[in-house]
Amino acid sequence: MTNPTAAKAQASELTLPLSQEKSDWLKSTIRDIPDFPKPGIIFKDITTLLKDPEAFGFAVDVISEHVRKHNVDYIVGIEARGFILGSVVAYNLGKGFIPIRKPNKLPYKVERVEYDLEYGKDSVEVHIDAASKGHKVALLDDLLATGGTAAAAYSLLTKLGAEVTTIGFITELGFLDGRKKLPANSDIFSLINY
Ligand code: AMP
Repeated sequence: MTNPTAAKAQASELTLPLSQEKSDWLKSTIRDIPDFPKPGIIFKDITTLLKDPEAFGFAVDVISEHVRKHNVDYIVGIEARGFILGSVVAYNLGKGFIPIRKPNKLPYKVERVEYDLEYGKDSVEVHIDAASKGHKVALLDDLLATGGTAAAAYSLLTKLGAEVTTIGFITELGFLDGRKKLPANSDIFSLINY
């Protein structure tokens, strides 16, 4: 089932890369919050995109159509905004959803991957039985910045034996070169690039 508002978009408008017009329109639905969560960071606030049914529906449909081509078994979302996006895409494609969470949130046995932040370390976790060898998965999050989070999520999934065939974001901060941290042979896509 597709979003009834976004269903008005023609099939050709749902393919990547987006037209300049569509990309500019989506950008206009995202709010910049300067100096959040710390000075010097411009936070891309997608709550304004999510609240706009046409923009949210369109973003979900473009991502769904792209992921559909990969014929994956599961959609994986990274906590927390990746859950909002990933679960709707999973529903759209009739697939199951797998959450990757911050530490100590998942109740069953987990795999964990630690990664470097600007200052200090963080980690992500997934249930050990979330996926296994032979499963193809799509990895989704709202935004690619330095790539540390997505790279950690990618290695978590490969630890389980799953094959990550596509990695997607609504927004990419291209000037941070986050793609460099992701495997060169992966299909990596975003709807909007800064
Ligand atoms: P990174 O690991 O640097 O690629 O950061 C990606 C994660 O941090 C994603 O889950 C984003 O939601 C969040 N994030 C990083 N930078 C920003 C930003 N400028 N605006 C919004 N979210 C961000």
